[in-house]
Amino acid sequence: MTSGTGTFVADAVGAGEAVLVDHACGRCATCRSGAGLWCPSPLVVGRVVSPRVPASAADGLRCGLLAAAALLEAPPARTTLVVGEPGSPTVLLARRLLDGFVLAAPSLTDDAVRAQVAGREPSGRAAVVVAGPDVRAAVRAVRRGGHVCVPHATPDARPSVTELVQREVTLLAPRQVTPVLGRLSEPDWAAAVAAA
Ligand SMILES: [Zn+2]
Repeated sequence: MTSGTGTFVADAVGAGEAVLVDHACGRCATCRSGAGLWCPSPLVVGRVVSPRVPASAADGLRCGLLAAAALLEAPPARTTLVVGEPGSPTVLLARRLLDGFVLAAPSLTDDAVRAQVAGREPSGRAAVVVAGPDVRAAVRAVRRGGHVCVPHATPDARPSVTELVQREVTLLAPRQVTPVLGRLSEPDWAAAVAAA
């Protein structure tokens, strides 16, 4: 069984367990440019890139790793705002991988988080926002000239070109997960699995 799309998927193994598998070929121009997630000629049999994890945790870990991969494409920010459940792998990985300050909320309309961002940023908005399924809301929440990370391949709501251009916002998709995996220590990984 394979869940998810793209070259980075969760495959079931044995009873109730799964592994994350990278199907990027590693040899084409896209892979060599550091965008293995967009490999146009993925391997039929991919490389297993994770230990065995509970099957129920696999999708959460995959989403968290994709969000972290998108986040590593963003410039360093004083405040990063992540749309996600505070205890989720996405939020946990962002906190472990970034040196800067990471705020998290399931919704960008969360008043407490908005107040925290406003307390840290003169513009009242974070420079980097990791979007949930509503990418349009993230584009409206980031500061002018900021970066919005888009880990979801099929968002519910997309911003218009006008919204992006007028506010000079850059959208960032994940390009490769290998560097994320390489930066995770065993305790980081264990914590992410526990959070999933
Ligand atoms: Zn490739």
